[in-house]
Amino acid sequence: MGKASLKVRLLEHTPNPEKVVAMAARLCYSPSDIDSLAENVSTTDQHSFIKKLMDLGHYSTIEHVTFTFGIEGVSRSLLAQITRHRIASFSVQSQRYVGETRSQNNEGTFGYIIPETILGLGPEAVAEFEEQMAQIQAWYDRWVEKLGSGRGAYEDARFVLPNAAETKIVVTMNARELRHFFSLRCCQRAQWEIRALADEMLRLAKEVAPLLFADAGPECLVGPCPEGKMSCGKRMEIRKKYGVDS
Ligand SMILES: Cc1cc2nc3c(=O)[nH]c(=O)nc-3n(C[C@H](O)[C@H](O)[C@H](O)COP(=O)(O)OP(=O)(O)OC[C@H]3O[C@@H](n4cnc5c(N)ncnc54)[C@H](O)[C@@H]3O)c2cc1C
Repeated sequence: MGKASLKVRLLEHTPNPEKVVAMAARLCYSPSDIDSLAENVSTTDQHSFIKKLMDLGHYSTIEHVTFTFGIEGVSRSLLAQITRHRIASFSVQSQRYVGETRSQNNEGTFGYIIPETILGLGPEAVAEFEEQMAQIQAWYDRWVEKLGSGRGAYEDARFVLPNAAETKIVVTMNARELRHFFSLRCCQRAQWEIRALADEMLRLAKEVAPLLFADAGPECLVGPCPEGKMSCGKRMEIRKKYGVDS
């Protein structure tokens, strides 16, 4: 497997997400029954109504729509961070059931992520990192052999695998949690790998529900920077990056 890179797919989402949100919200403010509400919502332009909901912060309405992403080419280090988000559902490729021996990987080593900073140091540094991964592979294979091979062996041999080891994740979040996730993880203060993932998830979510995610991204898009003295100080640049008018 060797060096892996980020890949994100939006696997599924609630069909007509903005229509579902509009229906839920209109129900709150209308004496209509469900049938006439459904009829009206399908024939009315929801743009200004949803924008108003977002401006008001009537966010419970956007909990009705969910987005499921398939993610690969990310490190176990990222896994530790993303799974801190509790209003989400995760399925993660298991290191107990999926072996990582040399013979199970095309390129001779388990998949791993090389940080940009190390790539930036040039070919010698990258070669050193790759040698270290190959060494870990040898340690892993040795433990699998000593522990009797197969699933029983993977469970404990994996203790020598590094944070750099690649993992694959399926994650589902509703739109409210996604917006919260983006506010924390698209921020310049977030770690680079999860920030790259969050940016890609935001791009994909915005494609199918532009109104729900119009101002989604780091908190400085909609208010003051919450980082205080730790602020990156690049608010205008960031607003431009996410296409929000200054
Ligand atoms: C830049 C950065 C640095 C970080 N550094 C560290 C670190 O050094 N060490 C560390 O341990 N973590 C760190 N974290 C993780 C952070 O503390 C949170 O665990 C993580 O961001 C998940 O955020 P959350 O709890 O708001 O979100 P979620 O779990 O996604 O929850 C969403 C919201 O639901 C509500 N909620 C959820 N569960 C509860 C609950 N039990 N009680 C009350 N309200 C709840 C809260 O309003 C919460 O904001 C860091 C995060 C970032 C972005």
